[in-house]
Amino acid sequence: MQRSLPVVPRQGGLVRAPEAPAVWQAEGWARVQSAPTVVTEEGFRPHVPHVVAWNLTRRCNLSCAHCYISAGSWESVADELKTDECFRIIDEMIAESAAPMLILSGGEPLLRQDLEEIAAYATTAGATAVVGTNGTRLTDSRIRSLRDAGVRGVALSIDSLKPSYHDRFRHGHGALDDTLAGVDRLRAARLDFLVQTTLTRGNRTELAQLVEWAADAGAVSFNLYFLVATGRGQSMSGLTPAENEEVLRELTKLQRAYRGVMMIRSKCQPQIMRHVYEDDPDSPLLNYRTRCPCGSQYCRITPEGRVTPCPYMPVVVGDLRRQTFGEIWNGSAVLQRMRGGELGGKCGRCEYRSICGGCRARAFADSGDYMAEDTSCAYEPTGVANPIETKKSITYGARVETKLEWSPEAAERLERIPGFVRGVVVGRIENFARERGFSKITPEVMSEVRASMPVDFSKRLPFFAQNEDPPA
Ligand code: SF4
Ligand code: SF4
Ligand code: SF4
Repeated sequence: MQRSLPVVPRQGGLVRAPEAPAVWQAEGWARVQSAPTVVTEEGFRPHVPHVVAWNLTRRCNLSCAHCYISAGSWESVADELKTDECFRIIDEMIAESAAPMLILSGGEPLLRQDLEEIAAYATTAGATAVVGTNGTRLTDSRIRSLRDAGVRGVALSIDSLKPSYHDRFRHGHGALDDTLAGVDRLRAARLDFLVQTTLTRGNRTELAQLVEWAADAGAVSFNLYFLVATGRGQSMSGLTPAENEEVLRELTKLQRAYRGVMMIRSKCQPQIMRHVYEDDPDSPLLNYRTRCPCGSQYCRITPEGRVTPCPYMPVVVGDLRRQTFGEIWNGSAVLQRMRGGELGGKCGRCEYRSICGGCRARAFADSGDYMAEDTSCAYEPTGVANPIETKKSITYGARVETKLEWSPEAAERLERIPGFVRGVVVGRIENFARERGFSKITPEVMSEVRASMPVDFSKRLPFFAQNEDPPA
């Protein structure tokens, strides 16, 4: 039965989790009692923080209209986690997820002089570190130091190829030129990058052109972000459900057209999976868990060390200055409800709830209940059809079990694959090898597999499939 929550008052941009009042006793911030970690009979843990977004600062040289964290040049360094606190948190995170993907962002993370120290500590501990930046400060020396710290990729924000739009939206004169120069430098340094675009009515008509440009520029991936009315974005209005529907239809066609060239994804709008299913029920995308991973495989850390289920959802579920990462991940009542609770409204009776489930952050921004329906969706469920399931033949975090012999060079290359997808990749490579009669995995076999993969790889080899080291 659906339980509705009261609308939660906002407190300085963040709100305290409604179900865990004991945690937030005045200034006490008592420690959360850990619940036992869920482990299936096969020893598989379904709820592992495979991906953690970490806003390392609220400071930023830009002040974009939609910024979920309301970053700006006026923000102070004073309350940010110190370097040694970050190291301790990384250790705690690795105890929960041996090889997570860590997205180091901000504000503008390049404003932190210890960014490389934090990235190097994380990668040495077993994480895959990528950096999310506005791209205006990517000098050659900074790119080199990021790469030397083990950073595997950079996500850049580009909202338009017209300075008149991008610079106005990002509140930074010359921002587009600086970011495009950063793209050129990343390409020259052979550091993988992806392009992130926030969609508004102002750049809606540029979508196909932006995708084409990103592919030509050599981006590994193109992510289209839909507005969630949180942070500074609260004063903006997103597209109507009908407009979203039209964009998702176009994006679905684009992701099919660019399959094998560049990954294309919608962010904060998981209903694209409905379009993918309608367009091609055998799409390889449906081999994966596609529902929003917020709170079950994904969470966010704020610059001050608070944990929320997702960057766009300001519900604080714990404080890393007072609790360990494991205590929060395993003990938060909010996270546990997000993992097992029933969805409300039409999302709860929708046949696409297993492969979509709506954006929980938008549900929270609209209603104060993160389990409520996602009102940005135009679909009206029939309420009678059976739920559509993904094939789930590929599971993030699957145990890495090699059954064939791996050459030392191939094993070394395997180590460069982000840990949470390593089990998936091993399974794929060994199946491929068996079908073709190979008994040993070598770099050559891995290259053949890469060439046969429909979705996961760009035309330029991603970092873990490259043969040579990038230029110094
Ligand atoms: S959206 Fe990114 S670039 Fe823009 S103000 Fe926020 S942190 Fe800075
Ligand atoms: S109603 Fe909810 S679950 Fe169904 S497609 Fe729309 S957002 Fe997804
Ligand atoms: S809550 Fe929304 S923005 Fe957050 S991970 Fe889920 S779909 Fe993405």
